[in-house]
Amino acid sequence: MSRKKLVMKFGGTSVANLERIRRVAEKVKIEHENGYDIAVVVSAMSGVTNQLVGYVDQLHPLYDPAEYDAVVSTGELVTAGLTALALQNLGCDARSFSAAQIPIITSDYHSKARIKDIPSDTLEASFKEGKITVIAGFQGISEATGRITTLGRGGSDTSAVAIAAAIGAERCDIYTDVDGVYTTDPRIASDARKIPNISYEEMLEYASLGAKVLQTRSVELAMAHNVPVQVLSSLTDHVGSDHPGTLVCREEEIMEQQLVTGIAYAKDETKISVINVADTPGIASDVFVPLADAGVNVDMIVQNVSANGRTTHMTFTVSGREKALAIQALEGHKDKIQFERIDTDDNVTKVSAIGVGMRSHAGIAAKMFRTLAERGINIHVIATSEIKVSVLISAEYTELAVRALHSAFGLAAEK
Ligand code: ASP
Ligand code: MG
Repeated sequence: MSRKKLVMKFGGTSVANLERIRRVAEKVKIEHENGYDIAVVVSAMSGVTNQLVGYVDQLHPLYDPAEYDAVVSTGELVTAGLTALALQNLGCDARSFSAAQIPIITSDYHSKARIKDIPSDTLEASFKEGKITVIAGFQGISEATGRITTLGRGGSDTSAVAIAAAIGAERCDIYTDVDGVYTTDPRIASDARKIPNISYEEMLEYASLGAKVLQTRSVELAMAHNVPVQVLSSLTDHVGSDHPGTLVCREEEIMEQQLVTGIAYAKDETKISVINVADTPGIASDVFVPLADAGVNVDMIVQNVSANGRTTHMTFTVSGREKALAIQALEGHKDKIQFERIDTDDNVTKVSAIGVGMRSHAGIAAKMFRTLAERGINIHVIATSEIKVSVLISAEYTELAVRALHSAFGLAAEK
């Protein structure tokens, strides 16, 4: 009978220096002794990928994306080899693999390639020899051209989940610098709790709100292939099999479902108002089609009530990064849209309550609005989805709003 399988992924801070790499090797050894065949996936040492990206930028701002990938994918090769050596130092049989050696086959969309297939033969053969397999995360090999690709920043999470799916791993443990996903940011609410179980859908909302715990793509992949993903800290002495972090899994597997699972916030939002446009059919499409064509991700939208029946304002939010692009797209279509001017406000925060419990429960939005009203916090824009209510507020109220909502929804740790 073949042994059960486990993927252990270590991020940049977990392999930041040799001392940390030794600790990684100790954790892997413990899980190996727990009876698992193990695929270890590593990131580059923290800061290394940024440095490599910087080199490319300085040398050639209009770089060839295939050479960009050839350069920035190298950080992971170093840590994969070092991790294999650290394991050998502990008496374990281990070897490292580049993505091309597995192979991790991807599209040829350089710097943001998608994984297409991971044949499991190489890994299976390595397990059969009793070896611990260490794989360079973040990289792949293009099916069409045979060249090295990368999976987008933070992409080694996606490498790990894809490998877990390919070998049928029992779990994919993601070791990072936090010990799990919290009900809210502990720097704002000191009574925030670690969430024991969170559904894939909720985790996707968290990730899209800018919580950088997991790359969004990795959560989508885990959901599609039903891979249980555990987020846990590499900085303690524990391992994933005996000390739980936060388990990201199917909604049906979560026994004690809360109405609201967590409160998230995103400060990097810009509110854009297109002032005095004609209040006629088609105006929304005149405004939003050029934005979509420019690749701008519009998030919250309101069309203000028209005071005179002839003109109105159209307000929406985009991430701060896309503000300039959005304004350029609107200015470029000024003839058609016929707005008077564009107002922008960067001093806003989007605060969201997330929870699959909302699907079957009314009143979450009402409670959220009441809680904010009681604190005198004005809401600029509202947006909802099936499992999320988001409000846009002035940035100065961020802490107050997050704390108030966190306790209003009963998320705080019991004292
Ligand atoms: N080293 C890559 C990055 O910094 C990939 C990763 O860490 O997941 O984006
Ligand atoms: Mg990461």
